[in-house]
Amino acid sequence: MDQSLELKKIADAISNCKKCDLWHSRDKGVPGEGPIDAEIMFIGEGPGFHENMQGRPFVGAAGDLLIELLSAIGMTREQVFITNVVKCRPPGNRDPLPEELEACNPYLEKQLQIINPKVIVTLGRYSMARFIPQAKISEIHGQPVNVKGMLIVPFFHPAAALHRPSLRPAVEEDFAKLPDLIRNAQQAPEFQPTDKIEDNNQAEQLSLF
Ligand code: URA
Ligand code: SF4
Repeated sequence: MDQSLELKKIADAISNCKKCDLWHSRDKGVPGEGPIDAEIMFIGEGPGFHENMQGRPFVGAAGDLLIELLSAIGMTREQVFITNVVKCRPPGNRDPLPEELEACNPYLEKQLQIINPKVIVTLGRYSMARFIPQAKISEIHGQPVNVKGMLIVPFFHPAAALHRPSLRPAVEEDFAKLPDLIRNAQQAPEFQPTDKIEDNNQAEQLSLF
């Protein structure tokens, strides 16, 4: 089937989805947006107030900052695919729960298959944990990791810099690395999470990077 039709079907399914309790606080589902052949996918946490009203990702204050950070490296939001680990707004912007992340994961999985990005930038810890469980964002942000053939780059969430201005330089440094990371996309160290590795502690995981 036509790939854009597939993406559209995912968006339609999200609008009517009741697979977790977040549908109760949904005005509009936020499937994500961007070119079907995007080389880069940004994955945030979940829709906030404005995203829920508009049905589009990153259109509030965090979105403004994302656009600014992209512009500093000569990129626009239209060039990248932007989505979230949960597609409906958690009430009061609370953190998504494990069962919500699990219920929503198949939509992200499908989007990853269709778009097949060269670089996946995770924004914040929930989206990082989807690919690199138990890693600490403060320790690995900005470092590319190869997870099952996917090039994952964990970044701080832009909203973190809005809440804690002292994080702003770190957020900017992460973005400044992106152009090189895209160029070197295929050369990150292999990281294949196994049950054994996931059971190990953080220090042992990091030694693999
Ligand atoms: N923060 C997110 O993580 N995602 C959005 O879509 C907006 C803000
Ligand atoms: Fe469905 Fe995901 Fe929305 Fe939960 S967050 S209702 S799984 S689309």
